[in-house]
Amino acid sequence: MTRSISILGATGSVGASTLDLIRRERDQWHVAALTANCSAAELARLAIEFDAETAIVGDESCLADLREALSGTGIKAAGGARALCDAAARPVDITVAAIVGCAGLAPVMAAIEQGGTIALANKEALVSAGDVMIAAVAKHGAVLLPVDSEHNAIFQCLQGNNIADVRWITLTASGGPFREWTQAQLDAATPKQAVAHPNWDMGAKISVDSATMMNKGLEFIEAHHLFPVGLDRLRIVVHPQSVIHSMVEYRDGSTLAQLGPSDMKVPIASCLAWPKRMETGCAPLDLPAIGTLQFCAPDEGRFPATRLARDAVHAGGAAPATLNAANEVAVAAFLSGQIGFTQIAAIVAQTLDGSIGSAPASLDEVLDVDAAARQRAQEILELL
Ligand code: NAD
Ligand code: MG
Repeated sequence: MTRSISILGATGSVGASTLDLIRRERDQWHVAALTANCSAAELARLAIEFDAETAIVGDESCLADLREALSGTGIKAAGGARALCDAAARPVDITVAAIVGCAGLAPVMAAIEQGGTIALANKEALVSAGDVMIAAVAKHGAVLLPVDSEHNAIFQCLQGNNIADVRWITLTASGGPFREWTQAQLDAATPKQAVAHPNWDMGAKISVDSATMMNKGLEFIEAHHLFPVGLDRLRIVVHPQSVIHSMVEYRDGSTLAQLGPSDMKVPIASCLAWPKRMETGCAPLDLPAIGTLQFCAPDEGRFPATRLARDAVHAGGAAPATLNAANEVAVAAFLSGQIGFTQIAAIVAQTLDGSIGSAPASLDEVLDVDAAARQRAQEILELL
C-alpha cells in the first residue's frame, strides 16, 4: 500500500534527508507536494525524480523559472505564500514541515487544520506559535511527530509510560563548534566557522543557532510545548559526542535514553514509519569506537542564549515569539557579515528588553508579534 507525503522545505537539509529515505522505498510513497523558497531548478529536478503532483516556490518571483523547468512534465507549479499554504492543506498521510524559520508557521498551521500527521522539524514555528499551535493540534485531531533529534528521542523514551511519572527531561546539546572557545575568540568568530558543526550537517541558520546555543534554547521551548511536564522538569546538559539524543528520567530513578548516529535520517525515519520502523542505511552505532561519552553543564556566561530562551518561556506572553523573531534577524545579519557573533545574543536580549505584549491568541496575532519584533530587532541592529 502506498502512502502520500508532502515535504515543505524539500530543498533543505532535512528535506534532502527525507527524500533520501523515500528513495529507499520509492514504490511505497506517493509524493503530493514539494516546496522550496526559490531554488527553482533544484526543486524541479526533485519533483521530476519523485514524480510529485505539485511543486511550489514560496517566493513568487521564482515561479516563472519553476514553470519553465517543469514544462511538459505534467507537474503543476505554483508560487507565493498562499500557494504554500494551499499545498500544505492537501490531505496526505504525512506532511514533513522542514521550512526554516517562522516563514514555515502558516503552512504548518494549514496542515494542522486538515487534521493530518505532521512530522515537525520547523521548531521556530512551534516556538513562535506555542499554545496557538498546540490548541490547533487538539482541535483538529492532528498528530505532531517531532523530527528534531532531541524531541524525537524524548518522544521515543516516553512511549508506554505515563507523563505524570516523569522526574526530568534532559535535552542533550553538542555544545556546537565553539564549545571550548574563549570569549575573545567568540567575539571574532566568522560565519564560515559557525556553520562548520562538528557532528551534524545542517542548514546555515540552525548551524549558527547551534554555535550560539540558541538552538538548545529554542528546543527547550519546543520541549515545553510538546511534553507538558512543567518548565522546572526540563534541563539541558552538554554532551559533545551527540550519541545520546536526549533522556527521560522517571520517578523510580530509571533513566531512558535514545542513542543513535548523528544523522537526521534516524529521527526522520522514526516519524515516517511511526509507529513502525524502517531501514535508514545509517551505519550502526559503534560504541567501542566512540569509547567515551562526556557530559557537562552549559556555560551560560559564554553562551547566554539558553538563559534568554528560558527567561522568555518563563515570562510567557509574546516573549517566545519575540525571542525567535529577533534571533532570526540577528542570525541573518551575522551570516551576511553585518554583525559579530556575540552580537546575536545581545540583539535578542535587547529586543526582549522592550515592552513585551500578551500571549498571541491566533495565527494572525503570532504573525503580528513576529513582524513587530523583527522591526524592533532591525532598529537595534542598525544602531550598533
Ligand atoms: P535549510 O536551510 O537547509 O532548508 C530550509 C528549507 O526551507 C529549504 O527548502 C528552503 O528553500 C525553505 N525555505 C527557506 N525560507 C523559506 C521561506 N521564506 N518560505 C518558504 N520556504 C523557505 O534548513 P534545514 O537545516 O533543513 O532546517 C529546516 C528546519 O528543520 C529548521 O527549522 C531547523 O531548525 C529544523 N531542524 C533541522 C535539522 C538539521 O539537521 N538540518 C535538525 C533539527 C531541526
Ligand atoms: Mg535538535
